[in-house]
Amino acid sequence: CGIVGYIGHRDAYPIVIKGLQRLEYRGYDSAGIALYDGTNIKLSKTKGKVSDLRNKLEDEISTSGTLGIGHTRWATHGVPNDINSHPHYSNSGDLVIIHNGIIENYDTLKKELSKRGYVFKSDTDTEVLVNLIEDVKKNEDIKLGKAVQIALNQVVGAYAIAVFDKSKPNEIVVARLGSPLAIGIGEDEFFIASDASPFIEYTKNAIYLEDEEMAIIRRNKEVKVRKIKDDTLVDPYMQELKL
Ligand code: GLU
Repeated sequence: CGIVGYIGHRDAYPIVIKGLQRLEYRGYDSAGIALYDGTNIKLSKTKGKVSDLRNKLEDEISTSGTLGIGHTRWATHGVPNDINSHPHYSNSGDLVIIHNGIIENYDTLKKELSKRGYVFKSDTDTEVLVNLIEDVKKNEDIKLGKAVQIALNQVVGAYAIAVFDKSKPNEIVVARLGSPLAIGIGEDEFFIASDASPFIEYTKNAIYLEDEEMAIIRRNKEVKVRKIKDDTLVDPYMQELKL
């Protein structure tokens, strides 16, 4: 299982799909991708190999975008099929998430969200998390980063996540607890991946998130790393990658 992401000035699709192929060694049963051009989200996912996803996309995708996230899934909650594959949308269709790991208290959270009118298309714990983030964001009328933080403080489990919001095309929020997550820092562009192999050809500078850290990645701007528990700003260690 693995995650990949890109936000910058290039076409995200080739970077993300190639990145998924580099992460294939980690094992998976399904793959998916979401691309965002600032107006429309193109989301495609399938049970099977990254090459199956690639074939599917070649028929479906007409435009691309400079923001993209991709996922290879190792199913833990819900059988491997197209619907349970990631990315997952929130109920409003505004938030899109990819997740590696397990949300252990997903059942309790799902019941609470169902009572509040949320409906679930998949059997995954991940779809519960993205709707929890949406619920927090709406109720408290706050930004995505803050909503992710509050939601993650209600979660028991392990995760590496990447999430974006349709209304904020210049931002990806990532977080880690127990599953690896690296951020590649390029010139006016940022990469996200489970390990550095998807982005080492583009940049040698990387930040490895520590457990219980999250980062808000802003296009052409910066990466702000914070502690999920108490919101402290972290001065991240920038590592120089060697081939
Ligand atoms: N628990 C999630 C699922 O079953 C993510 C699995 C993974 O790590 O790929 O969909």
